[in-house]
Amino acid sequence: MSQPECLFCRLYDEGDHVRKHGGFAAVRDINPKAPTHLLVIPERHADTFREVGEFSSEEAKQMLEFVADTAREAGLEDYRVIVNVGPGGGQTVFHLHWHILGGTPTLAGFE
Ligand code: AMP
Ligand code: ZN
Repeated sequence: MSQPECLFCRLYDEGDHVRKHGGFAAVRDINPKAPTHLLVIPERHADTFREVGEFSSEEAKQMLEFVADTAREAGLEDYRVIVNVGPGGGQTVFHLHWHILGGTPTLAGFE
Protein backbone atom coordinates (compact mmCIF):
# COMPACT_ATOMS: atom_id res chain seq x y z
CA MET A 1 0.00 0.00 0.00
CA SER A 2 1.13 3.53 -0.72
CA GLN A 3 2.25 5.38 2.41
CA PRO A 4 1.43 9.11 2.35
CA GLU A 5 4.51 10.08 4.36
CA CYS A 6 6.89 8.13 2.12
CA LEU A 7 9.02 10.15 -0.30
CA PHE A 8 9.34 7.31 -2.82
CA CYS A 9 5.63 6.40 -2.72
CA ARG A 10 5.10 10.04 -3.72
CA LEU A 11 7.88 9.92 -6.31
CA TYR A 12 6.31 6.80 -7.82
CA ASP A 13 2.94 8.57 -8.12
CA GLU A 14 4.10 12.04 -9.15
CA GLY A 15 7.77 11.99 -10.15
CA ASP A 16 9.47 12.78 -13.42
CA HIS A 17 9.93 9.20 -14.62
CA VAL A 18 12.45 7.92 -17.14
CA ARG A 19 10.09 4.96 -17.61
CA LYS A 20 7.16 3.51 -15.72
CA HIS A 21 5.03 0.44 -16.26
CA GLY A 22 3.80 -2.71 -14.61
CA GLY A 23 4.18 -1.38 -11.05
CA PHE A 24 7.75 -0.07 -11.39
CA ALA A 25 9.21 3.37 -12.11
CA ALA A 26 12.71 4.60 -12.92
CA VAL A 27 13.83 8.12 -12.02
CA ARG A 28 17.11 10.01 -12.17
CA ASP A 29 18.84 10.24 -8.82
CA ILE A 30 18.72 13.85 -7.59
CA ASN A 31 22.35 13.60 -6.43
CA PRO A 32 24.04 11.44 -9.09
CA LYS A 33 27.17 9.51 -8.13
CA ALA A 34 27.93 8.53 -11.76
CA PRO A 35 27.21 9.99 -15.25
CA THR A 36 24.11 7.76 -15.33
CA HIS A 37 22.51 7.19 -11.93
CA LEU A 38 18.96 5.87 -11.99
CA LEU A 39 16.71 4.57 -9.23
CA VAL A 40 14.16 1.82 -9.76
CA ILE A 41 11.22 2.21 -7.40
CA PRO A 42 8.49 -0.43 -7.05
CA GLU A 43 4.94 0.79 -6.52
CA ARG A 44 4.61 -1.70 -3.66
CA HIS A 45 6.02 -0.14 -0.49
CA ALA A 46 8.53 -2.27 1.40
CA ASP A 47 10.76 -0.48 3.90
CA THR A 48 13.93 -2.30 2.88
CA PHE A 49 15.28 -5.18 0.80
CA ARG A 50 14.91 -7.34 3.92
CA GLU A 51 11.18 -7.42 3.19
CA VAL A 52 11.62 -8.57 -0.44
CA GLY A 53 9.50 -11.60 0.51
CA GLU A 54 6.48 -9.26 0.52
CA PHE A 55 6.73 -9.37 -3.29
CA SER A 56 5.33 -12.38 -5.09
CA SER A 57 7.79 -14.49 -7.07
CA GLU A 58 6.38 -13.03 -10.26
CA GLU A 59 6.67 -9.44 -8.97
CA ALA A 60 10.23 -10.04 -7.79
CA LYS A 61 11.19 -11.39 -11.22
CA GLN A 62 9.49 -8.45 -12.93
CA MET A 63 11.36 -6.06 -10.65
CA LEU A 64 14.72 -7.56 -11.64
CA GLU A 65 13.77 -7.50 -15.32
CA PHE A 66 12.70 -3.86 -14.95
CA VAL A 67 16.14 -3.04 -13.52
CA ALA A 68 17.89 -4.80 -16.42
CA ASP A 69 15.59 -3.25 -19.05
CA THR A 70 16.05 0.23 -17.55
CA ALA A 71 19.84 -0.07 -17.76
CA ARG A 72 19.61 -1.37 -21.34
CA GLU A 73 17.26 1.45 -22.39
CA ALA A 74 19.62 3.97 -20.79
CA GLY A 75 22.28 2.67 -23.18
CA LEU A 76 24.33 0.94 -20.51
CA GLU A 77 26.18 -2.27 -21.34
CA ASP A 78 28.27 -2.48 -18.17
CA TYR A 79 26.96 -0.99 -14.96
CA ARG A 80 26.54 -1.52 -11.24
CA VAL A 81 23.32 -2.35 -9.37
CA ILE A 82 23.25 -1.48 -5.67
CA VAL A 83 20.66 -1.88 -2.93
CA ASN A 84 21.54 -0.21 0.37
CA VAL A 85 19.90 -2.06 3.27
CA GLY A 86 19.33 -0.22 6.56
CA PRO A 87 21.16 2.83 7.88
CA GLY A 88 24.33 0.77 8.38
CA GLY A 89 24.17 -0.15 4.69
CA GLY A 90 23.82 3.47 3.65
CA GLN A 91 20.05 3.49 3.16
CA THR A 92 18.49 6.93 3.65
CA VAL A 93 15.05 6.46 2.04
CA PHE A 94 13.05 3.61 3.54
CA HIS A 95 11.19 2.42 0.48
CA LEU A 96 13.03 -0.39 -1.32
CA HIS A 97 14.85 0.90 -4.39
CA TRP A 98 17.62 -0.19 -6.75
CA HIS A 99 20.48 2.06 -7.80
CA ILE A 100 21.78 1.69 -11.37
CA LEU A 101 25.17 3.36 -11.81
CA GLY A 102 27.03 3.56 -15.09
CA GLY A 103 28.36 5.68 -17.87
CA THR A 104 32.04 5.67 -16.96
CA PRO A 105 34.72 3.80 -18.93
CA THR A 106 35.44 1.66 -15.87
CA LEU A 107 33.64 1.13 -12.59
CA ALA A 108 36.72 2.15 -10.60
CA GLY A 109 36.03 5.08 -8.35
CA PHE A 110 32.43 4.24 -7.56
CA GLU A 111 31.74 4.25 -3.84
P1 AMP B 1 19.64 5.32 -0.40
O1 AMP B 1 20.73 6.12 0.29
O2 AMP B 1 20.09 4.00 -0.92
O3 AMP B 1 18.40 5.24 0.47
O4 AMP B 1 19.28 6.14 -1.70
C1 AMP B 1 18.43 7.23 -1.69
C2 AMP B 1 18.75 7.99 -2.96
O5 AMP B 1 17.65 8.79 -3.27
C3 AMP B 1 19.96 8.93 -2.84
O6 AMP B 1 20.93 8.56 -3.82
C4 AMP B 1 19.37 10.31 -3.09
O7 AMP B 1 20.24 11.12 -3.84
C5 AMP B 1 18.10 9.97 -3.86
N1 AMP B 1 17.00 10.92 -3.74
C6 AMP B 1 16.51 11.50 -2.61
N2 AMP B 1 15.45 12.28 -2.90
C7 AMP B 1 15.26 12.18 -4.24
C8 AMP B 1 14.32 12.76 -5.16
N3 AMP B 1 13.35 13.60 -4.76
N4 AMP B 1 14.41 12.44 -6.45
C9 AMP B 1 15.38 11.59 -6.90
N5 AMP B 1 16.29 11.02 -6.09
C10 AMP B 1 16.24 11.31 -4.78
ZN1 ZN C 1 6.89 4.09 0.07
